[in-house]
Amino acid sequence: MITHDVLVIGAGLAGLRAALEAQWQGADVAIITKVHPVRSHSNAAQGGVNAALEAGDSWESHAYDTVKGSDYLGDQDAIEICVREAPQDIVELENMGVIFNRDETGKLGTRNFGGASFARTYFVADITGQAMLHVMYEQLMKEQVRVYEEWFLTDLVMEDGACVGVLALEIRSGRLELFRAKAVILCTGGLGRVFEPSTNALICTGDGMALAYRVGAPLMDMEMVQYHPTTLKSNGVLITEGARGEGAYLLNASGDRFMSYERYGATNAMELASRDVVSRAEQTEIDEGRGIDGCVLLDCRHLGDELIRTKLYQIWELALDIANVDLTKEPVPIRPGMHYQMGGIKTDVIGATSVPGLYAAGETACISLHGGNRLGANSLLETIVFGRRSGAAAAEYAAARDFAALSDAKLRDEDARIQQIMDRPANGERTAALRLEMGQAMDRHVGVFRDEAGLQEVVDVLQGLKERYKQLPVENRGKVFNLDLVFHLELEFMLDLAEVIAVSALDRRESRGAHSRTDYPERNDDEWLKHTLAAWSADGPQMSYLPVTITRWKPEARAY
Ligand SMILES: Cc1cc2nc3c(=O)[nH]c(=O)nc-3n(C[C@H](O)[C@H](O)[C@H](O)COP(=O)(O)OP(=O)(O)OC[C@H]3O[C@@H](n4cnc5c(N)ncnc54)[C@H](O)[C@@H]3O)c2cc1C
Repeated sequence: MITHDVLVIGAGLAGLRAALEAQWQGADVAIITKVHPVRSHSNAAQGGVNAALEAGDSWESHAYDTVKGSDYLGDQDAIEICVREAPQDIVELENMGVIFNRDETGKLGTRNFGGASFARTYFVADITGQAMLHVMYEQLMKEQVRVYEEWFLTDLVMEDGACVGVLALEIRSGRLELFRAKAVILCTGGLGRVFEPSTNALICTGDGMALAYRVGAPLMDMEMVQYHPTTLKSNGVLITEGARGEGAYLLNASGDRFMSYERYGATNAMELASRDVVSRAEQTEIDEGRGIDGCVLLDCRHLGDELIRTKLYQIWELALDIANVDLTKEPVPIRPGMHYQMGGIKTDVIGATSVPGLYAAGETACISLHGGNRLGANSLLETIVFGRRSGAAAAEYAAARDFAALSDAKLRDEDARIQQIMDRPANGERTAALRLEMGQAMDRHVGVFRDEAGLQEVVDVLQGLKERYKQLPVENRGKVFNLDLVFHLELEFMLDLAEVIAVSALDRRESRGAHSRTDYPERNDDEWLKHTLAAWSADGPQMSYLPVTITRWKPEARAY
């Protein structure tokens, strides 16, 4: 048995920031991560991070944009905390060594981003996440925080209703270990790969959300899945919103900037309306026959070679490598693609879940900062602000408690469960095939537009997949680096989450933010200005509701 006061699961930006804070507060901290820290998905963030730091900008304006972007489903107390604390966190990042772009006068530079009424996105070319993650990892090494790298969390350990540790598999050796802790912080990132394709890394499988759900922490607003307006057709790779932030256009097959059409409600902001609005407009153009081969076009040509090569270099390279398009010379075909889960483990503003000892931060949590639709560049911000807050809260909780007395029985039970999976006879089924069936069904029916028949079909498909999962064998029977086993365990998490998303989407009979029901096309504040909560039961997700916290911004019609 390994013992630490605070265990942080995940080494993306939320996890690293949480671990640093808990360590600074005096706790003995360790991180468990299934990949090397700088391979976490935070590394892929391109566009930037928001804060109201400039003269002329204000936290109230950032808060209002976030509330409006959320389609009034975001909790305004959490939003206020986040945007008020954002400036000091950006300055701290700079002091730590993040080399944010600067303008000609030497001041920190900003770019426009969707749904924002002020240019408040700080960036490092189009590799902002990478720059932040590497600097945060340096801080972690400086503080000598213990990292269990390439260890895979398989379960949370509970005692008297509280979380008192975790079970994790050392991928290199296949050894299972019991970790005892006074507090556990889940920073396990998003679940993008429940959908296929997705902009997310292959490792974004929602493990922490599924584990928390299993031990009784409800998942909130899981129907709110963001489809990003600009992803490449062949594999779903992201082309940053920073491109439109720098001035790129969206064109349909006739060469029209269709965001100017009255019907899309964004004649002012055009391409920089919030993501749900732009994705719906694109999908409508495609569905009504004004697209090109299932796509519309993103045109960067007028931005000029120099801007593209200095501020959008990575996407220039991605478009060339993947779509064989030189952004300086021709428009690139793009379409809406799965990008982000606004929902997650329900937490309060210090990251506490409903399970004592269990905290969550980053994309895995739902605080709810993003409500029905996340504004671009608010997610990196969330990882930093709420990573810090949850680290402090978990350290404080741990300081006031003793370790639980744990026997090895939990370890033996989990070992036996995994051995049983390993012993299943081959039956022709493969993990990758089931995963693909799930992801494609989700993309087909739980994407930009949804309706009852499609959602019900997905629920049925998922029931079938869950049955088949019970017999699914592991092809590789070895112990060392058995990623086949890891993928198998991830699939169980993903099937649970896919079901929660589809059932929550069936439940919300209105259209709000990213959740657009063609059979209930209007937002319905009378009945649905509330959060959905999904709790685990043997018969599938049990739905209940929570009021939205509204401090000063009353719901209004939304136009950009
Ligand atoms: C392509 C792309 C571009 C983006 N661009 C932006 C942007 O410009 N601005 C913005 O604000 N947001 C952006 N986002 C969103 C943002 O990057 C993410 O929401 C955020 O980085 C998530 O950070 P995180 O720390 O919560 O999780 P992650 O960075 O995903 O880290 C998750 C960690 O959990 C660990 N983990 C997961 N499961 C297990 C397990 N079972 N056992 C052990 N460890 C586990 C992983 O090893 C990993 O270390 C982007 C997202 C994508 C996909």
